[in-house]
Amino acid sequence: MGAYDVVVAGGGHNGLVAAAYLAKAGRRVLVLERQDHTGGLAISARPFPGVDVRLSRYSYLVSLLPSKIVKDLGLDLELRRRRYASYTPKGRTGLLVDGGDAERTRRSFLEVTGSEADHTAWQDFYAMVARTARVLAPTLLEPLPTAAQVERLVGARAWGELFARPIGRTVDERFGDDTVRGVVLTDALIGTFADPATDLLANRCFLYHVIGDGTGEWNVPVGGMGAVSGALETAARRAGAEIRTGAEVVGISPSGEVTFRTDSAEHTVTGGHVLVNLPPAVLDKVLGRTPEPPEGAQLKVNMVLSRLPRLKDGTVDPRAAFSGTFHINEGRDQLARAHAQAAAGEIPELPPAEVYCHSLTDPSILGPELRGRAETLTLFGLHMPARLFRKNPDQAREEALRATFASINAVLAEPLEDCILRAPDGTLCVEAKTPVDLENDAGLPGGHIFHRDLSWPYGDEGGWGVETGHERVLLCGAGARRGGGVSGIPGHNAAMALLS
Ligand SMILES: Cc1cc2nc3c(=O)[nH]c(=O)nc-3n(C[C@H](O)[C@H](O)[C@H](O)COP(=O)(O)OP(=O)(O)OC[C@H]3O[C@@H](n4cnc5c(N)ncnc54)[C@H](O)[C@@H]3O)c2cc1C
Repeated sequence: MGAYDVVVAGGGHNGLVAAAYLAKAGRRVLVLERQDHTGGLAISARPFPGVDVRLSRYSYLVSLLPSKIVKDLGLDLELRRRRYASYTPKGRTGLLVDGGDAERTRRSFLEVTGSEADHTAWQDFYAMVARTARVLAPTLLEPLPTAAQVERLVGARAWGELFARPIGRTVDERFGDDTVRGVVLTDALIGTFADPATDLLANRCFLYHVIGDGTGEWNVPVGGMGAVSGALETAARRAGAEIRTGAEVVGISPSGEVTFRTDSAEHTVTGGHVLVNLPPAVLDKVLGRTPEPPEGAQLKVNMVLSRLPRLKDGTVDPRAAFSGTFHINEGRDQLARAHAQAAAGEIPELPPAEVYCHSLTDPSILGPELRGRAETLTLFGLHMPARLFRKNPDQAREEALRATFASINAVLAEPLEDCILRAPDGTLCVEAKTPVDLENDAGLPGGHIFHRDLSWPYGDEGGWGVETGHERVLLCGAGARRGGGVSGIPGHNAAMALLS
């Protein structure tokens, strides 16, 4: 033990990125991780006894991880593109956005919306978004730009529509159809409890969902999220970083002393710098400051199916519909109603959610016995704030799950329950995690998936967006500016703040 150049508190994927960069640069680095494994929210798990499937337990898709980080660290990682971006059932039809067939997408818009207008608006809007992504993404790996610099970079039109006024207003002005509006707006609401008509927090969430690596494309990590963290852990160890699991950080001093607890004892090490991968509310606690816990707002459900369910829409193959983002009751008005109900303390009557079948894109997550006989299904439910689950967590989880299944079943031709695989012990392969579960299982304050509300990717304070007010203590996790999501960006930026 003793003295290190850098102690990294927390071995999530961002802590591993920071450790890998710093160790590669010759620094003596120690990573301290509370759990018995690294990866934090970017892990794979086998949640159902006797069922050989590796599910991305929390995060599941990668967009924000810059190819520069993959290259710099020599990561052995495949991020596989999905041909179908999304499918949104509407009555007996549905909107299919097919990345491999522009004409089919156009026809689908025509059928669902009844005119060419929203398809043209879609192309125009996403061309503007694509231009914004191309110029903004490279800045995420540089010292923090100011608002004025970003405004100049993206241009007045994109600045006005994406940054300066609520994204809900932009979407209402550009698109006429409620389904299309909802498809656009979900990117503003993932893991974010906000009203996009009034709250610019939704704009921030939207930006992070559309600018990843300059394309905004969301890809499936082959082997699941565990493969991402696994590749990062390998890179960090290969570069010489020391990683200690089962080590809970309980104290950090501004002078670089880190106290941590293992099974047997309490230890203290000193770092020239301490990089903090912990959520800011946990950092406040270990620094002895009063934490301001954030509030997460999602329901994550992991499932294994014996087969994909039938659709009401006979013209689309379920394998196409489920391989992209399958939107469930996420029309603009449905989203607004669900937000209002949740804000009033009720579980939404028809919870908006999206599901994804990753085994269609990456069958390697299924064991050999299950390949061709089972599929995975991941559900991410919106507008399920932690406050709904505080009083009676188990009962509220059951209620939320019941409402969510009713919501899915409303858009399918058969109940989803009929398609769920049973584990050898007879139980259904369904695992649900509320924000309160994430707080208890993953140590995530408020169950907030981005550690705290996402920040603008610019600021007037200078630096790298990782500063904490203590010179020797820097954030290197999702709670930093330009953090949030599986990106490695705050890990990279904290390392650069030390190396530059
Ligand atoms: C359900 C869910 C779905 C998501 N889906 C996606 C997605 O598809 N795509 C995407 O890009 N993002 C997604 N996210 C968000 C993304 O997973 C996170 O924002 C990101 O993984 C955070 O990474 P991190 O390394 O900064 O922090 P974390 O992964 O939270 O890592 C922090 C680490 O610190 C450890 N730790 C905590 N306290 C202590 C302590 N006292 N001492 C030592 N160690 C400690 C933790 O155990 C953990 O390993 C999702 C998140 C959730 C929860």
